[in-house]
Order: sequence, then C-alpha cells, then structure tokens
Amino acid sequence: MFHKIKYVVIPKKSKIEYRACNQFDMTSSTLFTKILQGEIPCDEVYSDEFCLAFRDINPQAPTHILIIPRKPIESLCKVEQEDKALLGHLLLVTQKVANQEGLTQWRTVINTGAEAGQTIFHLHLHVIGGRHQSWPPG
Ligand code: 5GP
Repeated sequence: MFHKIKYVVIPKKSKIEYRACNQFDMTSSTLFTKILQGEIPCDEVYSDEFCLAFRDINPQAPTHILIIPRKPIESLCKVEQEDKALLGHLLLVTQKVANQEGLTQWRTVINTGAEAGQTIFHLHLHVIGGRHQSWPPG
C-alpha cells in the first residue's frame, strides 16, 4: 500500500516512533487507540502506514468517515513541527477517501477541544458528504 504514497516525506526515525507509540503508549489510550490496535472493530475504508480511515458509528451524512493518524496525537493543539508531513498526508487522504466514496464535494472537520465539539482526544478528521450542508455549523 505504501508504495503508492509518493508525496509523503517522513524521516525513517519518525516512522519507528509512530509504531512504538501506537503499540505501547497506553497512557494516552483512547477509543481510537483501541481501534488502531484492533481491540475494537471498525468499518475500515482506507489504511496505510500513517493513518486509518473508517466509517463514523453515528454518521451525520450519507458519507461520514473518520481519518486518524497512527501516531497518538491528542488534538491539533498538540501538533508539532515534526508532524508537518503527517498533517499534509492526512489532508491528502481526505481527498482519497472522498473520491473512493464518489464524492467531489465534502466537508472536512477537525474539532479541537471540548468546546469545539471534540469528544475523543486522538486527532481525527471528519470527512462528511453526500448531502447539502449549511454554514455556520451549530
Ligand atoms: P469528535 O466529536 O471528537 O470530533 O468526533 C468523534 C466521532 O467519533 C463522533 O462523530 C462519533 O460518532 C465517533 N465515534 C465514537 N465512538 C465511535 C466508535 O466506537 N466507532 C466509530 N467508528 N466511531 C465512533
């Protein structure tokens, strides 16, 4: 699968750290960590070395997919310079899964903090589409 991702440049050292965090960092364990570790099932739509995408259990539109990094980052509040390539990759994966779903128009949402609606403190991108969406959100 990874050979198709020509545009991601993440140093080898970081990849190892991502795997190590994903497997053993139980202190920051969330429901999404458990999904990544296969402890909780999900309806997977895309997976690669850096992220996993699966259908939201409570979809707000005909298509509602969550994309989560394998690295357990709490939220956009906690990203660092070293996450630059990963963040770009996650955005490109939004396009990939939207295309897979046959969407040419969709909304990408990243709730950051409880006040903004974040309920699971593992960074995730919502890809929401398949119906008209109004603005501003509630
Ligand atoms: P947030 O509100 O943190 O931005 O988004 C969390 C999302 O995770 C919600 O849309 C919620 O429906 C979804 N979610 C919560 N629990 C599960 C689960 O066990 N499986 C899946 N696939 N999605 C979940």
